[in-house]
Amino acid sequence: MKEYKSYFRSVVDAMAGYAPGEQPKMLDLVKLNTNENPFPPSPAVLGALETFDGAMLRRYPDPMADSLCAAIAEVNNVSRNMVIAGNGSDDILTMTFRAFTAPDKPVAIMEPTYSLYPVLASMQEAPVIKIALQEDKNFAMPCDVLEQAAGANLLIITRPNAPTGNTFPKEDIRKIASEFDGIVFIDEAYADFAEDNCMDLVHDFANVIVSRTSSKSLALAGLRFGYAVANPVIIEGLNKLKDSYNMDMITQKLAEAAIRDQEYLQTTLAKVKALRADLAVELEKLNFKLIPSQANFIFAAPPDNDGAKAFKFLREHAVIVRYFPGEVTGKYLRITVGTAVQNKRLTDVLKELYK
Ligand SMILES: *Cc1c(COP(=O)(O)O)cnc(C)c1O
Repeated sequence: MKEYKSYFRSVVDAMAGYAPGEQPKMLDLVKLNTNENPFPPSPAVLGALETFDGAMLRRYPDPMADSLCAAIAEVNNVSRNMVIAGNGSDDILTMTFRAFTAPDKPVAIMEPTYSLYPVLASMQEAPVIKIALQEDKNFAMPCDVLEQAAGANLLIITRPNAPTGNTFPKEDIRKIASEFDGIVFIDEAYADFAEDNCMDLVHDFANVIVSRTSSKSLALAGLRFGYAVANPVIIEGLNKLKDSYNMDMITQKLAEAAIRDQEYLQTTLAKVKALRADLAVELEKLNFKLIPSQANFIFAAPPDNDGAKAFKFLREHAVIVRYFPGEVTGKYLRITVGTAVQNKRLTDVLKELYK
């Protein structure tokens, strides 16, 4: 056999690739590690699945996902040409990095934040400017974000941020959008759980993209649906860069059913937010240090600041949360808000460790 030599671009050989949260096969685990919704998706989604005509699958889906995008536009009060749908918001991010980053077009991101961004940057061979959030101020943005991001072509603001769960003042985002010379991409994966969002900025600023996902608030991580809203010129450009049939037929139909059922969404959000408040109280009783959360997870440091130890102990007791090694993040656990029963299992195990 011919000896193997690498034909990969050197950047691909060098990169580590994205490490997704663990998706274990055992169903009896208390799974609080990837911010899924503990409640099922809208019954309208299951209804749409039942009436789906499987024979239609021989055909290609609508490449522009028009009916779905019309629903997205309606729900967000924007015009149809300001919307693009993606196979998860990760797909939206991929298009965005293809569009706006290159070896001479850096991206600026916060630190810590969603670990997919640097992976997408390395595929583009784009430099990454990391802007440290202030741990001693509950991970607030530093006031010189604009100075630090100068020279970047794309600035990503994750709001609320992951894994820290905090948000940033909207007035600051507005100022950044007006002064930054590049694209400001606001990743609103968790915005439904927050007090406010930045969707209206797309009307005031031609350089703002807001992205959303169905994976968390709409309880559809398994379906793979996300979208972006921005001014029509940006959407037109992103459309050139997407995979030609990025939205399969089943996803288009089910995602539309989900997004049209805003009433169910609001009911689920209220439940998750109430559970988040209860979980925060229980963790505080255990002397955890909590970052105030506007997401469906809580970033919290155990009393001994040893995230790794707590993670391991929980895992041995069939509770999985997310742990990010690192000088700052290693002190914390990122805990997805689960059902009352799941949250109690978590705090019961933690009580054993810190009694
Ligand atoms: C979960 C998450 C996403 C990706 O969501 P998908 O739609 O499942 O691809 C994007 N950004 C952040 C910050 C997330 O936490």
